[in-house]
Amino acid sequence: MTGGGGGGVLRPPAALGVVGDGQLGRMFVQAAQRLGYRAGCLAASADAPAALVASWTVVGPPGHLPSLRKFAREAQGITVEFENVSAPALRWLARNRPVRPGWRTVWISQDRLREKAFLASVGIPLAPWMPVRTEGELAAAVGEIGTPLILKTAASGYDGKGQIRVDRPAEAAGAWAELRRVPCVAEGLVTFAAEVSAIVARGADGQAVVYPVAWNRHRKHILDATTMPAPIGPVATQQARALALAIADALGTVGVLTVEFFLMVGGDLLVNELAPRPHNSGHLTMEAAVTGQFEQQVRALCGLPLGDPGLTTPAAMVNLLGDLWASGEPSWDAALAADPGVKLHLYGKRTAAPGRKMGHLTVLDPDPEIALARALAARAALARGSS
Ligand code: AMP
Repeated sequence: MTGGGGGGVLRPPAALGVVGDGQLGRMFVQAAQRLGYRAGCLAASADAPAALVASWTVVGPPGHLPSLRKFAREAQGITVEFENVSAPALRWLARNRPVRPGWRTVWISQDRLREKAFLASVGIPLAPWMPVRTEGELAAAVGEIGTPLILKTAASGYDGKGQIRVDRPAEAAGAWAELRRVPCVAEGLVTFAAEVSAIVARGADGQAVVYPVAWNRHRKHILDATTMPAPIGPVATQQARALALAIADALGTVGVLTVEFFLMVGGDLLVNELAPRPHNSGHLTMEAAVTGQFEQQVRALCGLPLGDPGLTTPAAMVNLLGDLWASGEPSWDAALAADPGVKLHLYGKRTAAPGRKMGHLTVLDPDPEIALARALAARAALARGSS
């Protein structure tokens, strides 16, 4: 079987492996175990979030051939929890077992230049953008797009890292120098009404399902809160879902794919970026949907029928960042006592740092805005309790 292609079904208790050791890997492992699989991970350390719950762990760097060999000996099916995985390594792993998503999807989505060029080539609407790899291209981008614009490094950016806003043409050279003149994308700053995402699960047979649209609110470029379904009306909802399905099809991806959008004031949708995996904005599907996003990742990897992505109830999720640990362990009992409907998820990270995702809270409520208010109140109780 090759990456995303072949037909066999992996049935429990087969051994599944995830490349990566963070919270997304941990929640994949937990979902796989619930279905009866022996789920493990390729981890940088034995006390990483995914390794702490895995049935087996190979400790080693993901690009390192001996650790990959060991991992390949263990895992009958492989997935990833983040996109910055070596595409050649995935291609190598896919010679003997399903690797989903396949290397090509990962390769495209790990580089903003490749991702934008791919999306543009299949007619997906994007904010104005131009490549910046030389001084000439930087000048052309400033001339064409105008300011304000955002310079984003093509590789290794997440949660707003590797991004600089350029307000005047004279600042462009300095901003690029600050980014060490690595290949970048220059993107026009758009004024959006909301940021939303649509999460697709697609099987090897090309069948796909899409979740209701999520409404995402950010703080300092990091996702702060999500509500689902997004109150954006049937037309934008339908368009976001259709675009996400079309992108998954065009990529030919197998697994979960998240598409982040800017919803413009006039109702147009522009694609911001892709993640070839479950996403922070889909965490609430674990409790609010018939089938959660991590279970879909397991099902797509194993060739099982995809589950129903419909919500059993609207919901909200708020992230718990390391900032909450500033004066010690937060007061979990205060948050849980404030509202017995609050679902606490902690990722088992040993050290908290500002901006680091340590966990999240989910609240189910027929009104997603009330769910959000309840989740925010619980988080506030947590912070008060710790001070
Ligand atoms: P990204 O890592 O590209 O998703 O960017 C992180 C966040 O920065 C986004 O979720 C937006 O809130 C903001 N942002 C990124 N690109 C743009 C843009 N072209 N216009 C306006 N805001 C942006």
